[in-house]
Amino acid sequence: MKPAKRIENLPPYLFVEISRKIAEKRARGEDVISFAIGDPDIPTPQHIIERLCQAARDPANHRYPETNGLPQLRQAISSWYQRRFELSFDPDKEVLPLIGSKEGIGHIALCFIDPGDLALVTDPGYPVYSIGTMFAGGESYSLPLTEDNDFLPDLDIIPAEIAYKAKLLWINYPNNPTAAIADLDFFDSVIAFAKKYDVAVCHDGPYTEVSFDGYRPTSFLQARGAQEVGVEFHSLSKSYNMTGWRVGMVVGNESIVNALMKVKSNLDSGVPQAIQHAAIEALLGDQGCIGEHNAIYQRRRDLVMKTLEKIGLRARTPKASLYVWVRVPERYTSTDFCSKLLDEASVAVTPGNSYGKHGEGYIRLSLTTPDDRLEEGLSRMEKWGQEQ
Ligand SMILES: *Cc1c(COP(=O)(O)O)cnc(C)c1O
Repeated sequence: MKPAKRIENLPPYLFVEISRKIAEKRARGEDVISFAIGDPDIPTPQHIIERLCQAARDPANHRYPETNGLPQLRQAISSWYQRRFELSFDPDKEVLPLIGSKEGIGHIALCFIDPGDLALVTDPGYPVYSIGTMFAGGESYSLPLTEDNDFLPDLDIIPAEIAYKAKLLWINYPNNPTAAIADLDFFDSVIAFAKKYDVAVCHDGPYTEVSFDGYRPTSFLQARGAQEVGVEFHSLSKSYNMTGWRVGMVVGNESIVNALMKVKSNLDSGVPQAIQHAAIEALLGDQGCIGEHNAIYQRRRDLVMKTLEKIGLRARTPKASLYVWVRVPERYTSTDFCSKLLDEASVAVTPGNSYGKHGEGYIRLSLTTPDDRLEEGLSRMEKWGQEQ
């Protein structure tokens, strides 16, 4: 059996060496503390679970869902955007539920990318943007995210022939893995670029609700003209600790939403209906949980920053997202640093280069480790750091 080239062409999974080491250590009974996973440790809020259980008992929810979801869910998404961002979307044409936003992010390449086409993709970045592109037969052109540019892509240095050839532009703020944020001025420049070169913009925004110090992230769709050129992917995963339930959405430009609906209706049958009811409860119910979760993450962020400072590691204090993006000392590569920290302190972090070559020189720490484990992990890092 010979697999297709799209399987053979998958990039090597750089975390594999670290994963192997973690597994080995754990098999030896060693206690490894992981800051490597971006998956909220806090459970889904109780009122959402109650709604899910109730809906699971209703036989109406045991049958095939519609690809485009329950009208009430599309309406709930639209109402949520209205309440949170003061934006109005037609629930039947400009809103589409997804089986987790990753599903739509992967599939949208099939709507725009023909073999040989180009997508502009930020580096470091969430790997699905470029892998979806490759699966559709296209190629990715990297837009470096560097500290000098506050981890925003410099659209002015993209050669015109590349820009004219590009079909899609991927952006993601608050950003994973760099934790950078973007303002409306940046989004305005993205829209001007997209109009000039006729590029569709996909903004991936799962972290707009995970923020600190009173900062409220903007939606790409709040920028003037955004809906003429693009869509925003959103997710209930990080906002409501619902990564396990798989529900997200895409909102914005009607023809982009419609194209994704066409692809999806030929591949899947939508989000299981009981989960759609849970999503409606999350979006329309009490939003108090968001502030409560953010207070927990903010406290963890402060503890992480304090430890990093004590051991002389440099990172910008994140205002949003679940991550701290940390510069490693010059003498290490990302991978060497991660291996040494794991070997000597039994603490796992993610090497920055696993998000792209411009992530080299950084590591990513996630704030989704439970408080007691986080504190133990940080004290190990502090002791280890002082021995270096
Ligand atoms: C977590 C994450 C997602 C995907 O979330 P889903 O659980 O699939 O909705 C998408 N983009 C980024 C950048 C993420 O970090």
